[in-house]
Amino acid sequence: MAASAGSGTGAPATVVVVGSVNMDLVAHAARLPAPGETLIGDAFAGTPGGKGGNQAVAASRLGAEVALIGRVGMRQHGQDLLKALEAERVHTQAIRRDDQTWPGVAVIMVASEGGENAIVVVPGSNADLDTQDVEQGAALLRQARVVVGQLEVPVPAIQRAFEIARQAGVVTVLNAAPAQALPAALLALSDWLVVNETEALQLASTVELPGDADEITIARAAAAHLRTLGPRHVLVTLGGAGAWLLGEAHPEGLHLCASRVDAVDTVGAGDTLVGGLAVGLAEGLAPARAVALGQSAAALSVSRSGVQQAMPHRSELPDLPD
Ligand code: ADP
Repeated sequence: MAASAGSGTGAPATVVVVGSVNMDLVAHAARLPAPGETLIGDAFAGTPGGKGGNQAVAASRLGAEVALIGRVGMRQHGQDLLKALEAERVHTQAIRRDDQTWPGVAVIMVASEGGENAIVVVPGSNADLDTQDVEQGAALLRQARVVVGQLEVPVPAIQRAFEIARQAGVVTVLNAAPAQALPAALLALSDWLVVNETEALQLASTVELPGDADEITIARAAAAHLRTLGPRHVLVTLGGAGAWLLGEAHPEGLHLCASRVDAVDTVGAGDTLVGGLAVGLAEGLAPARAVALGQSAAALSVSRSGVQQAMPHRSELPDLPD
């Protein structure tokens, strides 16, 4: 396959994100079309997305030196995706450019009346990220303070990145989204496992819960189970209800409340939180404070519309309480 490593240099990244990069193509029309129907829409935008790209942008805006390891198909939109990352000061030298393939694309239709949507995501070049691509970025991984991965790229790529990071004593954060069955070895290599409530339940499907369990009870039980699989810290995020942290510093578990905000658009809240958590850990904050940094950024992001465009810069965040 014709692929080449990109160019560009910079200071050693403190956060390295291994993950997906997508172009989100969003068309708005009065309503969603029926099968076979063509509608004239009233607005269109192409905006960069993908969990890897989102988390890299979140971490960069919050003050970390960030590099992304991924694969971008250059057949269309690829150049725009790379330029958008660079405009956000994300180092792209370890992103493999692939002249023969399409980048990841999400085609999204939104009904202006009611907000209903229909989405097709085509992983494109994200699905081609392999262990060799990751090994090309080994030096970056070893120099990082935190390595972050998610599951929109093949699991072996994330696992290889975490092996390299673990050998170098670098903290690893696995955001297991979208949820899928995971090799035990990957969980054992993850210092942090971050999941939302739905993903926690999918991963911890063997946990028995009373029918009337509230979300804290669910998070507590799922986190306890997931922690037995290897991660030193498990964070279950609960939307506006905050997050449940279980780990070495909090063996009984800790409920971290979310700030009260007028939520406008909650898409991307988890990615903002993960980016902020990674920055906090890279800065050496204690676990609960690192989560609080991510939550503070996520709360601000949900009060604005869009995903990457809603992510706050560090200067916008209030000081963390003691
Ligand atoms: P995901 O986007 O992965 O589904 P969540 O919806 O659980 O993740 O949100 C991640 C974090 O973002 C939460 O733990 C919380 O701190 C913050 N958050 C999400 N929704 C809100 C909200 N409505 N108000 C305040 N904070 C929110």
